Amino acid sequence: MRMELLEAIMKGDVLKFYKSMEWLDKRTDILERDNNECQKHKARGKFHSAECVHHKEHLRDRPDLALTDSNLISLCNSCHNEEHPEKFNNKPKAQLNEERW
Ligand SMILES: [Zn+2]
Ligand SMILES: [Zn+2]
Repeated sequence: MRMELLEAIMKGDVLKFYKSMEWLDKRTDILERDNNECQKHKARGKFHSAECVHHKEHLRDRPDLALTDSNLISLCNSCHNEEHPEKFNNKPKAQLNEERW
């Protein structure tokens, strides 16, 4: 990953990362890898289409894993929100629909 992006994440400018070509390409790869299917639903034997790609080790904690396949998983929005319980405290729900943290 470009140093510039890594530094942006570390400074808290995650938006710069989410708008980068590197991320947009990687996101497409991961969705294809997971057949556009929510992997948490799949684990429960159910189907839901994927709506975002989540960082298992959160982006701000492990910016070095930002583009690492094994750290990325396709999820639907409701499963994604379950992965970020900390965000319910101070953010409006409308902002929870995209991978922005
Ligand atoms: Zn996430
Ligand atoms: Zn799901």
